Parts: sequence; C-alpha cells; structure tokens
Amino acid sequence: MIGYQLLERAPLRARNTFGVEATAALLADVRSPAALAELLDYPLVRQSEVLILGEGSNLLFAGDFDGVVIAPATTGIQIIEEDADRVRVRAEAGERWDDLVRWSVGRGLHGLENLALIPGSVGAAPIQNIGAYGADISQSLAFVEAFDRDQHVHRTLAAADCVLGYRDSLFKREAQRWVVTAVAFDLRRSADLRLDYAGVREEIAAMGVESPRPLHAAEAISRIRARKLPLPSLLGNAGSFFKNPSVPSAQSEALADRFAELPSFADGDGKQKLSAAWMIEHCGWRGFREGDAGVAAQHALVLVNHGHASGAQILSVARRVADSVEQTFGVALEPEPRIIGARW
Ligand SMILES: Cc1cc2nc3c(=O)[nH]c(=O)nc-3n(C[C@H](O)[C@H](O)[C@H](O)COP(=O)(O)OP(=O)(O)OC[C@H]3O[C@@H](n4cnc5c(N)ncnc54)[C@H](O)[C@@H]3O)c2cc1C
Repeated sequence: MIGYQLLERAPLRARNTFGVEATAALLADVRSPAALAELLDYPLVRQSEVLILGEGSNLLFAGDFDGVVIAPATTGIQIIEEDADRVRVRAEAGERWDDLVRWSVGRGLHGLENLALIPGSVGAAPIQNIGAYGADISQSLAFVEAFDRDQHVHRTLAAADCVLGYRDSLFKREAQRWVVTAVAFDLRRSADLRLDYAGVREEIAAMGVESPRPLHAAEAISRIRARKLPLPSLLGNAGSFFKNPSVPSAQSEALADRFAELPSFADGDGKQKLSAAWMIEHCGWRGFREGDAGVAAQHALVLVNHGHASGAQILSVARRVADSVEQTFGVALEPEPRIIGARW
C-alpha cells in the first residue's frame, strides 16, 4: 500500500462547497504522514504550486488549478492524556470537524460545543482559527502537527506558535509551507457554558432543557445555524464570504453618526470591528441574483451558487458587493475564503 491515490486532470466540483467546476492538474488523496513526506519529495511536486484541500468549504475556485492538490485523508480521534479536570484529544486532519465536536460533547467534554456544525476538516480548523458563537479554537488548542515543506520534516507546533488571530494563523500566512496532519485540543470535564450569544439560551429553553450540558449547547447552536445558513448540499456556498472589517475607532464613530444602527464591537488597539453583513444588506444586496451567482436571501454575508455559476461569476458578484460597500461606507471588505486562480 503506497498510502496515496493520484488522479490527473481531476474534477473538483464535488470537492468544493460552492459546487463550481474546476480541475486540478494532479490530485492526491493521502492516507498517512509517511506517504505525505514521500509525495512532497517528488521533484514534480517540489516544483509545483501545491494546494492543500480539506472539504473545500472555505475556497473559491475562480479557474482551474494548474498545480498539485493534496487532500489529507487520515482519520482517527484519540485521548492522549487526561487527568481529573482535563482531557487532551488528538484528531487526524482528515476527520470531519463536526464529527470531532459530536465526539467531544457526546463524552460531556467542554471546549468545542460552540463550534458545532462548522463544515470542513479538522486539518483546516487552525488555518483560519475557526470561530462562531463567541468561541474559536484558540481557546482550546493544545498543539498542531504539521509537515514543514521548507525543512521537509514533520513538526509539532505548540498553540502559542500557531499565531492564531481573527480568521488568521501562521498556516494561513505561509500557505505553501505547512500541511497540517493532526490537531490536539485540551478539553475540560467541567466549565461554564458560553450561552450569551444571540438566541442560544432561548433555543435551549425551547428544547425544554433546564441544566444544559455541552451536548445541549452544540444542539441549540446547530439548530440556529441550520435555520440561518443555507445548506451547501442544497445551495452552493462557503459560509461568510467577507470578514468583519476592523477600523480605527474615530472612523467607526464617524460612521455611527451617519448610520446609527451599524453594529460595531471593540477590537482592541483603539479599533472597532464593523458588521460586514449589515453594510452589505444596507447596500441592498441580500437576495441579489445574476444568472446562477448571487447573495443568499437568508444572509447577506453568504454568496451562493444557484446551480451552474462559475467561480469567476461568483467572484464578480463579490467584487461588486465590496465596491458598493466601499463607496457607501469608505470601508474595504476582504474575502474570508481563499480565492484560487485569481487575485482579489
Ligand atoms: C455553510 C458554512 C458555514 C461556515 N461557518 C463557519 C463559521 O461559523 N466559522 C468559521 O470559522 N468558518 C466557517 N465556514 C468556513 C469553513 O467551514 C471553515 O473555514 C473550515 O475550517 C474549512 O475547512 P475545509 O476542510 O473545508 O477547508 P478547505 O476549504 O478545503 O481549505 C480552506 C483553507 O485551508 C487550507 N487547508 C485545508 N486543510 C489544510 C491542511 N490539512 N493543512 C494545511 N492547510 C489546509 C486550504 O489550503 C485553504 O487555504 C463555513 C463554511 C460554510 C460552507
């Protein structure tokens, strides 16, 4: 067994949640860390641009990919250390993120419950420090195992070395260097649940639960998410298309004078984070459709593929949305998904 499977001119439509057509010059599904090292050592691979692909839920293919796509496919979730308060859990990169969340809340462990139902693989979770409902993985990350393409060695990076920020990390900044192979989390046997985010307490009450545990928080958040966000299997999308922009407080105050309802949140260092969704909706984009590319009717931050839109058509809508927000508010939006085959 060689531990990987290769396909030339590989179709990628089923491997991105926008469901856009694209091909990769070469695609490798890799089932072991040893096979990954071997594959990355081939001269062809060393000389090519490499794209690490999980479930394709945070990518937009604006064209074909002329390099080598590597899809980590190792699976497994294990407890590697535990004591009276804490359980350290290690999961392979190819596990589905939500399966890890279900695994942890099913054992009563605290730490990942607010991140339920985020699509994607475990290996991608550190790339943008996935976050939702007032939590992100920086709060429970123990370490990341990754292959370092510059040094050609497997390395273990402590959480502090991963430089996690809002939708950001070392791995995102050095995308050609790192292949995440496994991720470990420190989960707690008991902790306060974070239920303050809009609607979570109400959903738990509606479920008839009086003493919620992590399982209930995850279930409540999953129900809210399922109502708010279009399901990629029914309507192609990559979740939020734009990050919430961070602006100097003076600019945020000036905007508040003109747009009293524009939500903003303290972002440290004299900055305020603004709601990208509110600004896009204010510009009238919610529910917009041109051909099969558009903006979701449920959520102004979500760009969608109604069936046969190309990545370039979705990107064109995204650019027009960002231009109109810039003209109205003087704020530049940045995309959250990685755009392959075009520059933003
Ligand atoms: C409906 C919907 C809702 C979403 N909600 C949220 C949300 O609430 N919060 C949030 O943070 N995100 C959200 N997302 C975005 C997405 O789910 C996450 O970013 C997720 O972590 C992407 O995982 P993936 O396996 O699909 O990664 P991919 O889309 O395949 O890849 C994303 C990036 O990570 C890199 N990458 C992937 N795997 C590896 C690896 N093993 N090693 C190195 N690099 C790698 C890729 O090269 C690419 O740059 C949502 C997406 C959708 C479709």
